[in-house]
Amino acid sequence: MELHKIKENIYYIGDTTNIGVIVVNEGNDVLIIDSGSDDSKGRRILKTLEDNGFKIKYIINTHMHADHIGGNHYIQKHRPDVNILTTRAELSMIENPIYMPYFLYSGAYPIKELRHKFLLAKPSHVTQIIDNENTSIKLDDIEINLIPLDGHTEYQKGILYDNVLFCGDSLISKELLEKHKIPVNVNIEKTKETLLKLQNSKYDYYIPSHGLY
Ligand SMILES: [Zn+2]
Repeated sequence: MELHKIKENIYYIGDTTNIGVIVVNEGNDVLIIDSGSDDSKGRRILKTLEDNGFKIKYIINTHMHADHIGGNHYIQKHRPDVNILTTRAELSMIENPIYMPYFLYSGAYPIKELRHKFLLAKPSHVTQIIDNENTSIKLDDIEINLIPLDGHTEYQKGILYDNVLFCGDSLISKELLEKHKIPVNVNIEKTKETLLKLQNSKYDYYIPSHGLY
């Protein structure tokens, strides 16, 4: 994993799920955006941050898919003071991730093939709930904006700071689209609205969760 600088106090760790990093105070405490898929990703994120002199203080999960929340468990276990934030809507599956494969199996206990780490993360405890309608949140010395990016999940949030948008899975790279053919979206109408909104926006950088490293 490698830390890439985007702007002053804004970075991302490039990996199969890119991790946003924003410095929140002069003590080099950081907020990370998403946490990868499992314990090993959580461990490597911690190491990458600490090797670069940063201390993790907050995690915001853009949405509840396993490859975005799976590192929470390891980080919370080894850095119990870390605050985990997400919206009220995404919280239920972050704390009870078994419901994700249940959901994909029509409400029945999921078969083994649906219980692998790409669909089933380890649970973590959300320490601060963001109301679904919240548009901004203050963390130490900074204020971040929460941009609704509905469609991929019902309440996915983009994280906007200093005109850099961490856009979760609302955008995926051309290469990944060619590889997987059909992107995952639960609500097509909202997905179209989100894509039009992004097309009409003018941020300095758009950091998708996949396909940039
Ligand atoms: Zn996703």
